[in-house]
Order: sequence, then C-alpha cells, then structure tokens
Amino acid sequence: MSVSLAAATKGVTNRVVKFMEKAALMAMQSPMKFKHGAVLVKFGRTIGSGFNYDRVRFRGKDITSVHAEIEALDGKTLSTASGMSC
Ligand SMILES: [Zn+2]
Repeated sequence: MSVSLAAATKGVTNRVVKFMEKAALMAMQSPMKFKHGAVLVKFGRTIGSGFNYDRVRFRGKDITSVHAEIEALDGKTLSTASGMSC
C-alpha cells in the first residue's frame, strides 16, 4: 500500500509536517534495510533525534537493532539536533 505525503499529512499542521520531514531525514541516515527515524519534541523544539542501526551483540545474539526512538531518547544525537529549528 502506498500513501502520498499529502494524504498522510491531511489535517496535520505545517509545523508537525516539518518534524515528520526531519524524522524522514534521520531515517535516511540509517544503515538498515528498513530505515526508521524519530524526532523528540518538547514545547515545539527538537530535543532529540535518531535513526535505527544494527547492534553487534545483545544478550549473546548478533541479530538486533537499536530503534530510532530509543536513540532519540538516549541523546546521542542531541548535539546535532539542538541546532535544528522548525
Ligand atoms: Zn521502534
């Protein structure tokens, strides 16, 4: 199923669309096959952002990934996100 950006954002404010676009840009940085991006917003400002990436080992297994929203909460990309404004 394919959904156009216009249909997906119907009724959404332009400000929110800009945050969605920022999350899409974060997703583009993901090295994974299925790319995900996340933006953490507080009082209209981006305070965190992230994208999913593979983790080498977790609980003895090699197949796992760090989710974009966890990366956004972790603050690892906070320094690059804080300078961004919507
Ligand atoms: Zn997730």
